[in-house]
Amino acid sequence: MTYATEYRRSIDDPHAFWADAAQAIDWETPPQQILDASDPAFRKWFVGGRTNLCYNAVDRHLAARGDQRALIAVSTETDTTDEWTYRQLYQAVNTFAATLQCLGVVEGDRVVIYMPNTGEAVIAMLACARIGAIHSVVFGGFAAHNLALRIDDARPSLLICADAGMRSGKVIRYKPLVDAALAEAQFPPPRVLVVHRGLDADMPVTEGRDFDYAEVSKAFVHADVAVVWRESNEPSYLLYTSGTTGKPKGVQRDTGGYAVALALSMRTVYDVGPGQVMFSTSDVGWVVGHSYIVYGPLMVGAATIVYEGLPTSPDPGIWWKLCEQYGVRTMFSSPTAVRVLKKQDPSWLTKYDLSAFKWLFLAGEPLDEPTAAWITGALGRPVIDNYWQTETGWPVLSLQAGMDLHPVKLGSPGLPNLGYQLKLINETSGELCADNEKGVLTIVPPLPPGCLSTVWGDDQRFLSSYFGHFKELLYSSLDWAIRDPDGYYFILGRTDDVINVAGHRLGTREIEESVSTCFEVAEAAVIGAADELKGQVPVVFATLKQSGGSAEDRKVVANAMLKQVMEQLGAVARPARVYVVDALPKTRSGKLLRRSLQALVESRDPGDLSTLDDPNALESVRSALLRGPDVG
Ligand code: ATP
Ligand code: MG
Repeated sequence: MTYATEYRRSIDDPHAFWADAAQAIDWETPPQQILDASDPAFRKWFVGGRTNLCYNAVDRHLAARGDQRALIAVSTETDTTDEWTYRQLYQAVNTFAATLQCLGVVEGDRVVIYMPNTGEAVIAMLACARIGAIHSVVFGGFAAHNLALRIDDARPSLLICADAGMRSGKVIRYKPLVDAALAEAQFPPPRVLVVHRGLDADMPVTEGRDFDYAEVSKAFVHADVAVVWRESNEPSYLLYTSGTTGKPKGVQRDTGGYAVALALSMRTVYDVGPGQVMFSTSDVGWVVGHSYIVYGPLMVGAATIVYEGLPTSPDPGIWWKLCEQYGVRTMFSSPTAVRVLKKQDPSWLTKYDLSAFKWLFLAGEPLDEPTAAWITGALGRPVIDNYWQTETGWPVLSLQAGMDLHPVKLGSPGLPNLGYQLKLINETSGELCADNEKGVLTIVPPLPPGCLSTVWGDDQRFLSSYFGHFKELLYSSLDWAIRDPDGYYFILGRTDDVINVAGHRLGTREIEESVSTCFEVAEAAVIGAADELKGQVPVVFATLKQSGGSAEDRKVVANAMLKQVMEQLGAVARPARVYVVDALPKTRSGKLLRRSLQALVESRDPGDLSTLDDPNALESVRSALLRGPDVG
């Protein structure tokens, strides 16, 4: 089976293709209809089929691999490692599920999970899935206000949290944040279940509302909880998008389609099967965490690593050390994390035995060529960029490590994934783009299995956010792309990241890419600043691999950046100003907040900063603006 033939089959005969793919999971009742696309935006997969994510991730492996490692939780913050075999995971999940039932959680209830990246978070998710409750994991780094907004949208009957998380050696008390969120929320859940990690001895407790997991679960250590079978299209979970472009949307995931898409992609894209080990460095609070820390690897009987800590602590070799220790086959990380490692001594990458290591996948934001080239050279393994979204749940664009792998082209996330029929549309004419012509990336409905069913509680927002952009009914989350004559796609950033310089439309991504080819540059963000003459002009913010240089040093590098852009993109793209800064503002998921940068440059309010990762980054930008540009 080659990618080319499988891809064609998935598009030409989706019924047969997905009927075959559905065999990879266990069904209590097999689907009666593979696809109902009578209403294409609200298509339904595997209609009438009944299945369960937890059953597929845990129960079905007990007979063949009960004693095999399933879940490995490593925290370099608390300096602990916990491991569960499939059998142990089964018991832990059943105990947790019984505890949820004891607290009144029933099928269809929402349960908000606000926990650090721990084994217990994974177990809590699986326990919800087991009893048909809809989990909504909120990234543990979010503040009380973000949590309150998501609570009010999901209206949970229970919130599960930990007493605390840790970051860079500092304890971050979660429970006071939960209390503040519940005080702010209009629809707070009546009960809170706290998993105490022993990090916060002074944790506040509200009697009658807060329950201690260790206490309540005591009665259920040997519990067996019946699986609640869900119709394929019933929701399995809610997950909010990162909020890079504004108010987060509550992505609603189905059950059967998601399971089938994950099982397929574990084999075809990520090349991980039974007994093998996958390490996704993401957080369970993001979509990569849901799909490729929790459900994907477990669904296929692999072992998965969940990691709490920094990539550089206790030293920048920690991830590679774990890869050696557990025999990781496939690792999944982000360009941001690789850029962090790129600032460190490269010898950390060659210290450990990576003979089992086959693939590194990166996703979440554009992977610039210099970073891709650096990590590929340092690892000596294929590094595969894959493009997708919270909405899609699994890759839209990728190369297929588990099939006949097509050659990597630096800067490109490759080819359409199985089941995705893509079109590039010229934004102004609405026509199909030619090869190498820049357009908006769209997916022809019906969306393949695994992609969102709707926006939670808001079908109208689902339609207007994703399907309302073109004459034809096409799904788009508004990213720019081009396709080369070999069919490879290149993502050029979001449509709102395009700037208009004297009538020329320039993608900020292209300028960033060009700036990043300067050896000294670690990372760059480019925005369009209002300009009386030209409409907009490009302004560059860049961090350097080596910070703390003098004004003169900054000027030299800034000039080099200018020269690079002029040479590679021409005079129209010439940055009007270049600022060297210590840090760039990013969301908690590692994405550049260009809209906030732009607002600061134009002396406007930076807007909703609730998803901002590091407040110091804004300060560093503010002081650079006060100090004046290093060039320009
Ligand atoms: P919001 O939709 O709330 O503004 P968001 O789009 O940042 O937030 P996510 O779903 O986490 O939320 O991110 C998906 C987006 O990330 C994609 O639409 C794309 O812009 C970007 N992205 C993801 N992977 C890649 C990649 N491999 N290359 C380029 N961009 C990527
Ligand atoms: Mg988005």
